[in-house]
Amino acid sequence: MPSPYKRILLKVSGEALAGDNSFGIEPPFLQAVAQQIADVAQMGTQVAIVVGGGNIFRGMAGAADGTDRVTADLMGMLGTMINALALSNAITRHGVKSKPFSAATMPSVADTFTARDAKLALEEGFVVVLGGGTGNPFFTTDTAATLRAIELDCDVVLKGTKVDGVYSEDPKTNPAATRYTTVGYDEVIAKNLKVMDTAAFALARDNAMPIIVYALDDAAGLAGVLEGRGLSTRVGD
Ligand code: UDP
Repeated sequence: MPSPYKRILLKVSGEALAGDNSFGIEPPFLQAVAQQIADVAQMGTQVAIVVGGGNIFRGMAGAADGTDRVTADLMGMLGTMINALALSNAITRHGVKSKPFSAATMPSVADTFTARDAKLALEEGFVVVLGGGTGNPFFTTDTAATLRAIELDCDVVLKGTKVDGVYSEDPKTNPAATRYTTVGYDEVIAKNLKVMDTAAFALARDNAMPIIVYALDDAAGLAGVLEGRGLSTRVGD
């Protein structure tokens, strides 16, 4: 079954690349993520990716240790670039063209992100991997994912997590919590159902960008989730 989406924005968190570890990139997990992305690209879906950096450095943690927050967030954004280079290269090794972009200017490392150049690359069949978040401190890569999805005219944001959707409460602390099939932006924000940060949900709401939350280890894989197999929650109106 073909994907119903022409162009998607996939958010890959740092933890997806670290696997069972809390730090760094674990090659088997990097390869597994790259394989899932290559499968979707080979179905004919254009794929843009925003990578996180929590497996390398989080600005909040640096700030808690006394580093100035703006500097700490710059360090976090550089961490996302390391992941972007690794993921883009791994996708290429799975037989799909891929190009990394950076939100910050670092010409010897990657092309600087512009929506125009990233869209051209998508139309030419490249999977674009966007590092550096929004390029601004005090933001997260979840917000970057929503922002880039809107800028690049994507149909949907895919957010892979450790759970298979959005629950009425934290399923780890309350086993009776139920999973939503669909849920509105306002409900997610009002109930503070922390799957993405509030800024990301508010930006999605204001621009009518749907978000599909699914489990990274769903047996159907990302391709299956896009085809409507597998479990997920659709956040939208
Ligand atoms: N970051 C930032 N601005 C952005 C995106 C990210 O300053 O627009 C920094 C921030 O310090 C954050 C770090 O990069 O902690 C890593 O990103 P994030 O925590 O979103 O990664 P994830 O949790 O998805 O792995």
